[in-house]
Formats: sequence, C-alpha cells, structure tokens
Amino acid sequence: MPNIQCLPSHVADLIAAGEVVERPASVVKELLENAIDAGATAIVVEIERGGLTYMRITDNGCGIAPGDLPTAFLRHATSKLRTAQDLAAIGTLGFRGEALAAISAVSHVDIFSRQKESDAGAMLHLDGGVAGEVRETGCPEGTTICIRDLFYNTPARMKFMKKDSAEGAAVHGIVQHVALSHPQISFKLLRDGGEVLYTPGDGKLLSAVYAAMGRDFALGLVEIKGCGGEIEVEGYVTRPLNGHGTRGKQVLFVNGRFVKSQLLTAALEEAYRNRLMKGKFPGCVLHVTLPPDLVDVNVHPAKTVVKFVSDKPVFDAVYYTVRSALDAAEKPPEPEKPKENFYRTMTVQQYRETAAEEKKPVGSYSRPAAVQPSPVRPAPT
Ligand code: ADP
Ligand code: MG
Repeated sequence: MPNIQCLPSHVADLIAAGEVVERPASVVKELLENAIDAGATAIVVEIERGGLTYMRITDNGCGIAPGDLPTAFLRHATSKLRTAQDLAAIGTLGFRGEALAAISAVSHVDIFSRQKESDAGAMLHLDGGVAGEVRETGCPEGTTICIRDLFYNTPARMKFMKKDSAEGAAVHGIVQHVALSHPQISFKLLRDGGEVLYTPGDGKLLSAVYAAMGRDFALGLVEIKGCGGEIEVEGYVTRPLNGHGTRGKQVLFVNGRFVKSQLLTAALEEAYRNRLMKGKFPGCVLHVTLPPDLVDVNVHPAKTVVKFVSDKPVFDAVYYTVRSALDAAEKPPEPEKPKENFYRTMTVQQYRETAAEEKKPVGSYSRPAAVQPSPVRPAPT
C-alpha cells in the first residue's frame, strides 16, 4: 500500500460536491432553500436544457453583503449555525454551509446580490470554485445566482445525466415540492423560456396545490386537519372516488421538508382501507409538523429520508386525521330539520286553543272598526 496522504483540497471539494450535487434538480433545491432562508417572498427559477447548461435563481430576500460573497462559497461557511447546540433546534432549511461550495466546484457561477438597505449591489464570478474579484454592480434587491455548464469539469458525473427532458422534469418536481411547502411564497419556473409553473404566494395551501398539481387534482380533494399530542397534520387528500393509478401523487412534508416515508404512506393508505378501488392509491399534499427534537433532521441534505424518535404517535396522528376527514366527507349532508311543531295531530278544540294562544283570530271573525258598516240611515220619506 502506498503511504497515506491528505487529499488536495480541490479533490476533496469535488468529492464533497458529488455528494451534494447529484443533478440539476439538487442544485435548484439547494438554491431555493437558500432563497427561502433569506426571507424571499418571490422566487423565479429559469433553466435551459434541463438545467445542465443554464440555471438562474432570482430571489427578493435579504441579500448578501459584498464582503461576504466569497465566504459564502467556502466549505462549511454558513450564517445559520453557530454552535453544536443549535443543531438540535435548527429552524432553517440549510445549515451545513456546503451547498454553494459544492455547486461552484462543478460549474461556472455568477452571483449578484444587494442587501435591502444598500444603494449598490455586488457580483462575483467563480470557475470550478475559484473566485474572482468582488465587483460593485447595479442589481435589484435580493440575490440572483446563475449556474452554467454543470459538471463541466467532472465528465464522469456528466455521463450519468439523463436526457434534458428528464433532468428538466426533476427540476420541475423540486420546484413543485418547494412551492407546496411554502404557499406564502410565489414561485415561478421557466423551462427553455416557457412558464411551466406559477404559484400566487397568497398563503393558501389550496392555491399552491391548484397551481403546482393541476386543476383536476385540486378539485377532487378533502381538507384534513388534526393533531395527536404535539404532532399536527394538515393538508389535502384525494376523495376515495378520485384514486390514482400510482403513488406518484403522494406529496409528504415533515416540518416543511419534502420527504419519502413508508411510515407516513402506510398511515395514509390505512385510512383508505376498504374505501378505494383495488389498484388505486390516494393522492395527498400532507404536512406533518412536530417539535424539532422529535425528528432527526441531521440526515443527508440530498436525501429525503426522515427519522422519527417514535413512530407510533406519528402514524396514529396521520391515520386518525385522514380517517376522520374521509368519514366526514362520506356522510350524506344532514337533511334540514322540519320546523318545531311542524307535524302535530290535534283535535279541533286543541287547534283553536293553540291558535288563540298565538293570538290569531280563528273561527270568529269581527271586522276591523274602520270598515264597520255605517249606521243605517232612516229611509227617505
Ligand atoms: P447553508 O445554506 O447551509 O448555510 P450555503 O452554502 O447554501 O450554506 O450558503 C452559505 C451562506 O450563504 C448561507 O448561510 C447564507 O448566509 C448565504 N446565502 C446563500 N444563498 C443566499 C441567498 N439567496 N440570499 C441570502 N444569503 C444567501
Ligand atoms: Mg444552503
């Protein structure tokens, strides 16, 4: 065996980049998360050729100070985590300080950023992670980051890329998921110049579902809302009659992160037991929210696995919330109650008495005074 040596830093960076940046969609996911963490309310994603040649993400968030621009691209450089204790209660989507370093190691990057209170913005260009000079420039408030020729210096990775259309579809999927977990933010996706997704950012989950999942999906839904202890469950599930042929329309989030979870899927599907046709699956946009210390977020950023400290309460919260919403949706609407005393049998005597109580003259008729016949005049002589 040859002697042991530390890897040169650019090789270490490329290896690390390989873990974070799998394909264009993983770049878009990281950059969207950064924009959200920056407090953006409107985010535009533009891609060309599935993102392989060009991706641009524009946000109206807090921006980055010119002096911090090069630092943001260093490995383990983050503004979101300071101490080991912070890890237990992380509230931001990113925290490893790896994404920008990884993305810039395998592409050409241009970043433009302006902080809210500054008159001018700044820009920085990087090639394969090597940064140029920070330059002052005019730009809108927020941050715009352009990524060109992803994997230009890692041909081995490039070989694993699918067709442009498949990479573009994966980007579309990521934007959909991020939009569904942030209805208060407006997202726009342009693919090769054409708008393919636009959410209004009006804070309503149903608006985001309508925009991101399509009208047909949005019209066949039942709203769900419930909780089990500290575990809150809300969102929309498909009506049993609107079952889907695959599980592709099951979109699950835990504390705002898109996840794949057999546990959550099982709880959802158990609630539909005996309600769906065979071979059909429920669709959903389901948000599970629980205290951060009951879920392990320190899993790999590029993966969508989730681990709960205890599975049973999470299963139960989802199962019972979905089941009771489906039960309520299945019940036929209650018929309008007839007026009290609508049906009564009574004798004529009882009827007269009741009517008299209600002060309605019945049975005896006396003319009102105004129309009393005038006294009979004496006949003319
Ligand atoms: P992380 O998000 O894990 O902190 P990143 O490498 O993704 O690491 O980003 C590094 C830092 O750059 C962030 O902590 C943040 O301070 C800054 N940053 C990145 N993107 C943006 C953005 N769109 N707006 C404002 N600041 C940003
Ligand atoms: Mg980040």
